Amino acid sequence: MSAKYNKVALIGLGLIGSSMAHAMRRAGLADTITGHAKSAASREKALEIGFIDEACDDPADAVKDADLIVLCVPVGACTDITKSIAPHIKEGATLTDVGSVKGAIVRNLEPLVPKGVHFIPGHPIAGTEHSGPTSGFAELFDGRWCILTPLYGADDAAVDKLKSFWQACGSSVEIMTPEHHDLVLAITSHVPHLIAYNIVGTASDLERVTKSEVVKFSAAGFRDFTRIAASDPVMWRDIFLNNKEAVLEMLGRFSEDISALQKAIRYSDGDALEELFTRTREIRRGIIDAGQETDLPDFGRTAATPTTNTPDEK
Ligand code: NAP
Repeated sequence: MSAKYNKVALIGLGLIGSSMAHAMRRAGLADTITGHAKSAASREKALEIGFIDEACDDPADAVKDADLIVLCVPVGACTDITKSIAPHIKEGATLTDVGSVKGAIVRNLEPLVPKGVHFIPGHPIAGTEHSGPTSGFAELFDGRWCILTPLYGADDAAVDKLKSFWQACGSSVEIMTPEHHDLVLAITSHVPHLIAYNIVGTASDLERVTKSEVVKFSAAGFRDFTRIAASDPVMWRDIFLNNKEAVLEMLGRFSEDISALQKAIRYSDGDALEELFTRTREIRRGIIDAGQETDLPDFGRTAATPTTNTPDEK
């Protein structure tokens, strides 16, 4: 199955859109790449960097004659964009997305997709805390997972082609239902981000510890939270608003477990603490063994190494 599409349209030219374009160029996956972003500044920057061949002010122009259309915008923007591009998508084309939530994407977009267009939602589990057209790089998806959530009755050939495309971008591909995706990502990504936003917010609110002390004495644990809490505010707002159910369910479990930890500390139950910390250490070992993280001290950071493909996939 060829992984190549003649013309690919990227709607959204930020971290994911630009990284996809770089990965496509690296593997020769498209003859032409057109692109649209909300602002003229991003469209111009994408042309200047050269990861798209044509920038379109109107997303409808970008998708004309495209064989693959990828929505790389915040989840909350996908519905309006799909409304505006739907009449202009050619029959037989594939429409996919990279949104970090899948149930809401399917619910909102499926009714808008014209007959004869293959709608195959997707989510590359790869990212950094950076955004915008200058933040992308070809290696972002290397060795990472990409989840596809095809709808019931989806065209097998179209799904296989998109799967080959993502594999050629460097990813392994897993197929699952949108509901399962949302539950898994709620605990592996969405709730951890919420915790990071919360702990950094709490620290900045503390009256007895000044902000300068938070910065000055920032230990590795807190620094890791601040990196995650630097992720794009609009994107994360949309993730929580669109994956409410699964996030609230996982947050309920989390609250119960943190209460148990609180109790263990209060009653000096060292065995309970040690048992949990031993179990969690094994989980990290498993992630390293699966090649999804480095075991270098301080996550392999050096002063000279910029953040590249970090494990905080959204
Ligand atoms: P990003 O760097 O902030 O880029 C978002 C892009 O969407 C920008 O080009 C922005 O245009 C454009 N955009 C926003 N609203 C738009 C609208 N109404 N019409 C047209 N263009 C619009 O975000 P990203 O990190 O690439 O995330 C994009 C999607 O990927 C999100 O759905 C996110 O859930 C998903 N995702 C992100 C990660 C991650 O780690 N970041 C990982 C996996 C999946 P301007 O530049 O002009 O504002």
